[in-house]
This record gives sequence, C-alpha cells and structure tokens, in this order.
Amino acid sequence: MQYLSIKEEIDSAIHRILTNGTFILGEEVSLFEQEFAAFCRTPYAIGVASGTAALHLALRACGVTSGDEVITSPFTFIATSEAISQCGAKPVFVEIDPQTYTIDPSKIEAAITTKTKAILPVHLYGQTADMSPIMEIAHKYGLKVIEDAAQAHGASYYDQPVGTISDVACFSFFPGKNLGAYGDAGAIVTNNPDIAHHVALLRNHGRSQKYEHLIEGFGERLDALQAAVLRVKLRYLASWTTSRQQNARRYNELLSNSPDLTTPYCRLGTSHVYHLYVVRTRHREALRRALDVQGISCGIHYPVPLHLQPALRYLGYTQGNFPIAEEAAQEVLSLPMDSSLTESQISLIAAAVVNFLRNDGSLQVN
Ligand SMILES: *Cc1c(COP(=O)(O)O)cnc(C)c1O
Repeated sequence: MQYLSIKEEIDSAIHRILTNGTFILGEEVSLFEQEFAAFCRTPYAIGVASGTAALHLALRACGVTSGDEVITSPFTFIATSEAISQCGAKPVFVEIDPQTYTIDPSKIEAAITTKTKAILPVHLYGQTADMSPIMEIAHKYGLKVIEDAAQAHGASYYDQPVGTISDVACFSFFPGKNLGAYGDAGAIVTNNPDIAHHVALLRNHGRSQKYEHLIEGFGERLDALQAAVLRVKLRYLASWTTSRQQNARRYNELLSNSPDLTTPYCRLGTSHVYHLYVVRTRHREALRRALDVQGISCGIHYPVPLHLQPALRYLGYTQGNFPIAEEAAQEVLSLPMDSSLTESQISLIAAAVVNFLRNDGSLQVN
C-alpha cells in the first residue's frame, strides 16, 4: 500500500497541521501551490476543493457564462460537461480520434457557432489531446482553451508540459488519480495572472480581505490537510510516473501480438503518464468476466459516452451521433495499472489476457 511506503512523512505532515490549527487555505496550501506550479512549469497554481471545482472555476475565469457553448469530448467523465453546465453554458460534443480517444481536432470547426466561447479538451487516460491544431483553431476564432488534465499530471505534448499550452489546465487529486489526496482536492495551473487571480477569488466567496467581497464566488477551497498530504506525495510523483510508464511498456511487450486486441496508442514524442492502461477488444465483456473470475478486476472508462447519458438527454443527442466514441465505449477495458504493480503481477495479468484471447476469444463473439 502506498501509504505505508511514505507513512512517516505523511504522519508528520498531518501532525504539523493538527498542531498549527489552520485547516483551510493558509501557508500549507500556498506552499503546495508554489510546489505544484514549479512541477507544472507554470507561474501560477491555485488549489481548489476538487477537479470538478477546478474545471468550473477555470471556465468562469475564462468568461464562460450563460448562453455560451463550450466544445468538448463525449468520451470522458461527466464532471467535464457538468462544469460547463454549472456556468450556465451548453456542452457541445465533438467526435473523438479512434487511436487516442481524445477530441478529434479536424471535427471541431464544424461545431463552432457564434455562441462558442471555449474548447475543453480532455487528456484522457494520461495522454494529451492533440493540442497544436486545437490551439490554432482557438486563435483563429478567438476561443479560450481549458485543459481537463484530471488524468494527466506531469504529461506533456511534445516538449510542452500540460498546463503551459493553453489558457488554463485543471487537475483532480481525487484519491485514485496519479497524484491523489486523502479526500477531495484539485487545482488549476496557468500562465495568466488574471485567470489565477480570478480563480483565487471565486474559490473563496470572492473575498479579498476578511470582510470584503469583490465578487460573488463559491466555497471551493483546498484544505490544509490535503495540501500537506499532496506536498509529500508530489515529491514522489515523477518516480511513480516512471514506474507507470515502465509497467505500460511491460504490458505492451506481452500483449502487442495478441489477436483481437489493441494496446494503447502513444503519440510519438509525447509523454503518456498512464493514469489508465486501456486495451481494446471486440470480446470486452467476455474478457472482463474471465479476468474477474481469476481475481483480476478491470474498469471500463467509459461504458456510456456522455451524449447517451440520461442526465444529458436534454442536449438532444442520440445513438449514432458519435459512432467512434460509441464503439470505443463497447470495446475499451482498463487493465490494472498503478506504480506499485510488480513485474510478476503484470506477467500474470497479461498471461490471463493472452490465454483468454487464444482460447475463448475466438469462440465467443459478443
Ligand atoms: C476525476 C476527473 C474529473 C473530476 O475530478 P474530481 O476531483 O473527482 O471532481 C474530471 N475530469 C476527468 C477526466 C476526471 O477523470
């Protein structure tokens, strides 16, 4: 367990907060912000209560408001589009690229209307969206770009780290993410001092001083206990990421010649931080069951694309609108992935997958 490997540092960090008594914002949060900004190579980081809050407040700081449209991917966690709706704006989905599962830039322009205010690409599974063409389109139409980097701590697009490419990038420190707190937490990073200042006001009721509120904001602050935990873990993040990448390479070596299985595509020259290791097969359901029986539990990210979620029916999309995302939703399978997986665990999992595809896979078509 990760906690046991860093127990002393975590315990002393938590003890420090319990004895100094500042639980919300304060010095610990400021220090984490400085350290996370340095890690992302951006001048500013602002800690907030969750990844969802980071997206919501970043969109607001970019001026997204009611009546606006924001272009994003239908193949993501619902928080991405919820943040758009929380601004009173409308999510507009654009089909994904079949190899990276991130938004297909060549299909963005057709979705732009006079109401479009921003593009919100999602760096899915730990790999960045194709940012250069996205930034070009944004400049051409005067749109803001907000990156959903909730799964991509430390990833880069060619030599540009996530967060330095666009107007603002949003991170989640939900416990299961590559950098996970012991509760909810998130942050934005940006090169833009106005966006940083605006998010800092929005997260704390628009407060400039104790009794002065410049704007109406929200209660979406980062707390000191989470900041203390994150400061400790941030020191290990680069080495944990290297382990994830090494684990992905091992999986690739063992799985790349399997029939009926596609291993993750990694754009050459970019760094993929493998929040998830996602394979693809027509036999997804049968494979998932076969692995489950052997005690190997896998996830599906995501079984239902957002445009087909009951919650978003009001947007008026139907089955068939985004066939590439819909097909991916039927076929993707997230194999166990973590920095602490051992070589023998990976061999075992890969062997179970290969075995299944050799035997049952050819017999069962679902
Ligand atoms: C986890 C996640 C979020 C939301 O983060 P929370 O901290 O859970 O609010 C948003 N977008 C994506 C792609 C995520 O994976």
